[in-house]
Amino acid sequence: MPAQLFHSSGSNAASPGAWQLREQGLLAPYAFFARQSSGRRYPEPLHPYRSPFQRDRDRVLHSAAFRRLSGKMQVFTGDMGDYHRTRLTHTNEVASLARTIGRCLRLNEDLIEALALLHDIGHPPFGHCGEDALDECLANFEGFSHNRFALELVEEIEQRYTPTAGLNLTDEVLAGQRHRIHKTADPHLPPLLEVQVVDAADSIAYDAHDVDDALKLGLLTFPQVQSLALVRRALDSANGHAAHRHNERQLLVHALIDLQIDDFITVSHHRLADALSLDAQAVREVGMRLQLSAAVEAEKQELEAFLFERVYRHPRLMEIRQLAATRVKQLFFFFAAHPERLPPRFQMRAERFGIHRSIGQYIGGMTDRFCEETYIQMIELGREQAEDW
Ligand code: MG
Repeated sequence: MPAQLFHSSGSNAASPGAWQLREQGLLAPYAFFARQSSGRRYPEPLHPYRSPFQRDRDRVLHSAAFRRLSGKMQVFTGDMGDYHRTRLTHTNEVASLARTIGRCLRLNEDLIEALALLHDIGHPPFGHCGEDALDECLANFEGFSHNRFALELVEEIEQRYTPTAGLNLTDEVLAGQRHRIHKTADPHLPPLLEVQVVDAADSIAYDAHDVDDALKLGLLTFPQVQSLALVRRALDSANGHAAHRHNERQLLVHALIDLQIDDFITVSHHRLADALSLDAQAVREVGMRLQLSAAVEAEKQELEAFLFERVYRHPRLMEIRQLAATRVKQLFFFFAAHPERLPPRFQMRAERFGIHRSIGQYIGGMTDRFCEETYIQMIELGREQAEDW
C-alpha cells in the first residue's frame, strides 16, 4: 500500500491523506469537505485512512443504540408479521437513498451516511405512540423528543472504549441532528446540503415503504392507493414495466421512490448550477434549499394525508398504539414510585438529571420487546404477587 494512503498528519494540506484526495477529486465546491470540520468536543488526532465523517458513521454503526433499532417498530409492530420495516431497515433505506442523491449532487457521502444512520437512533419503543406517551409523562420536565434523545444518546449515554462519555461525534454531525429538533430555528439559514438530503430521503423512504407495508398487511387495497395523484404519476412513469402486473406492489414502491428521487435530483441540479462558485457555508447563506418540484411536493402531501387517515389511524393500529402507550406510561410511573428498580447506571443519572428525565432515558432506550418484558416483570407479576397476599 503506498505510504501516502496512510499519511497520519491529514490536516497538512501540503501532503493530504487518501480521504482528502478523494474528497478533492469528487466533491462539488458547495459540498461540506471533512477538512472544513470544526472538530470534536474532545479533540482527537486525524485517522490515517478514514475521514472524520467515516469515523462518525462507524461510531454510530457500532453503538448499542443503533443495534437496538432492529427491535423498534417503524409503524407496524413485530406481532403483525416479519415483512414490514423496522426502525433499522427504515434507517438503512434512508442511508441508501440519501447516498444516491448525495453522489449525484457530488455532496459528501460520508457525512450523509453518518447523518442518516444517526437520524432515528433516539426513537423510543413503539414508535410515535411511545414517544407521545413519554412526552406526556415528562410534560413538566422538558418533555420527550426522539430527536433530542438521539443527541443525549450520542453525547452522554453511549459509552465507547474511551473514558469520555458519548461518541464524541464531529460538530457538523451533531449540528445536523440538532437541526431536526429546531427545524424552523432560522428560516434564513438552511442547514448544510447534506442535512437537507437526509431529510428528503427520510420522507421519500417512509412514504414509499409505508404504502408497501400497508398493502402487504391488507390495511390498504391497490385501487385505494391508485386514487392518489402521486401513485398514478409513479405508475405512469413506470409504464415500461407494465408487463409485471403480478408484481404490482413491488412495481409501485420502486416507481414511487424512483419518481421522487429523480425529481429531487433534477430540481437540485438546476438550483445548484448557479452555485458552483460557492462553498458549503456560502450556499447556506444564500438560503439554498433543496426540495421536490412544487407539483410532486403537492401530490406527496396528498399521499401523506391519506396515509395519516387510512394507515396511521387504522383501527388495527390504533388499538395496538393505545395498549403500547398505556404500558409505557404505567412503566414510567412504576419507576417513578420505585427508583431503586432502575439499573444502577440510571439511578446515578437520576442524581444528576432528576429521576423523571432518567426514567425517560431508560425507557426511551428500550426495544419494543424489552419494554414489553419489563412491563410484565415489573407490573403484571407485581400485581399477581399483590393479589396472592
Ligand atoms: Mg426516519
